Amino acid sequence: MARTRQQTPAPSPAGITAAEPVEIQRLVEELDAMLSRLRLGAIREQLDGLLEEAARRQLNLREALAWLCAAEVASKEQRRLSMAMTIARFPFVRTLEGFEFEAQPSIDPGKVRDLATCRWVANGDNVVLLGPPGVGKTHLEVALGREAVARGYTVQFTTAMELLGALVKGQQQGTLEVRLAQYAKPKLLIIDELGYLPLEPQAGHLFFQLISRRYEQGSVLISSNRPVQEWDEVFGDQVVAAAILDRLMHHSHVVMIRGDSYRLREKRRAGLFRPQAGGSSLAGIGGVPPPMPAKEV
Ligand code: ADP
Ligand code: MG
Repeated sequence: MARTRQQTPAPSPAGITAAEPVEIQRLVEELDAMLSRLRLGAIREQLDGLLEEAARRQLNLREALAWLCAAEVASKEQRRLSMAMTIARFPFVRTLEGFEFEAQPSIDPGKVRDLATCRWVANGDNVVLLGPPGVGKTHLEVALGREAVARGYTVQFTTAMELLGALVKGQQQGTLEVRLAQYAKPKLLIIDELGYLPLEPQAGHLFFQLISRRYEQGSVLISSNRPVQEWDEVFGDQVVAAAILDRLMHHSHVVMIRGDSYRLREKRRAGLFRPQAGGSSLAGIGGVPPPMPAKEV
């Protein structure tokens, strides 16, 4: 049988009654300390301004309390965001608003905006960004990573070199388990620049261990300048590369970026580089790899 809800008597602070105005004065004097104790730092710091504004708007007590709480919640959320952004260790600030989709017509803005909802992070899916240097892979990784942080997910940004360097070191020092656990922890792990530099021989096995551990648990956002068909070369082992791709690609969204380096756009405009038909104007310059074959996975 449902119990009828009883009217809870209004709580009164210990020893305080309406007939004791002096006590209220004492409480007001202790307000700062009480706000500190309750960790209501924003209310404490902005109290005069908030109360003045509440009075100006002629808020009743309940409205004024909501007004104060909203200020505290906003400040706590701001702190949480900036802390989570620091923990994520993004190399720089890049946003989706700052991404010029017109400059990279091979990217479907709808697909990127859909990724920005972070449903894929909630589902533990992966995202693979493929494309030649300078086309905005890292920019998109940071921008999507920030969206995930804003939605409350734990995010860590790293490069393939840093990650695999740490795992190799862990293996040598007998701390592999600790390192694997560390990289398995964030809900979203962003691995930038796979394929740019040669990896150590055991790197493929270690990478496989990490990807297996994260499989269907947490998401991986990975970028590479090499098409996945070349990942056996990247990892130096066909079997390991196939096993990595099997898990990575199972629940994944692939974004292929073709076209020219954004970095060289200005230079090209100034006539320093000649645009090449259907490919990156970087091709063949200073040992930079030629553009990737236009193969979707
Ligand atoms: P990649 O990681 O593919 O080599 P980056 O993301 O590092 O390329 O892009 C190189 C620079 O150009 C970065 O400063 C990035 O913010 C900028 N950039 C690349 N593409 C775009 C774009 N479409 N709109 C705005 N800035 C871009
Ligand atoms: Mg990059």
